[in-house]
Amino acid sequence: MRIGYGFDSHEFRSGIPLKIGGIALAHDQGLGGHSDGDVLLHAVTDALLGAIAAPDIGALFPPSDPKWKGADSAIFLREALKRVHSAGYTVGNVDASLILAAPKIGPHAAAIRARVAKLLGVHADCVGLKAKTPEGLGTDNAAIAHVVVLLARKPTRRRKDRRRK
Ligand SMILES: [Zn+2]
Repeated sequence: MRIGYGFDSHEFRSGIPLKIGGIALAHDQGLGGHSDGDVLLHAVTDALLGAIAAPDIGALFPPSDPKWKGADSAIFLREALKRVHSAGYTVGNVDASLILAAPKIGPHAAAIRARVAKLLGVHADCVGLKAKTPEGLGTDNAAIAHVVVLLARKPTRRRKDRRRK
């Protein structure tokens, strides 16, 4: 088994859409960033990459590259997942904490969990999501995500061959 941890934060800005966990949320501000600013998918991506000791999201998709401006962050997650599979692992489960003052995540939690699960190819009950307000942190103008992921070794081919006989 391997464990991975990812952290990300983005600042709220007016006049851009808000996307968290691949889901568009109605809000008067969005998250600024070189891509679509999806703080949760970025933290999941970094957790996957960290679990296999691969280069992080900033190294693979440099913010300086105009190619990633406004990009759908699902692209980053899919690349990280591809690397996880190539390294011989599958995703066991993911647990995430989101810290933001607004909007309320509760009404969207099921949709976000389902979307993240679909992107990872796991069941929705393998994706945990908690949302907190930044009590005492003074980060009301930011969204923060912490994510841990557990990877399991894929069954070896030899074992599969044995089963076939
Ligand atoms: Zn980010």
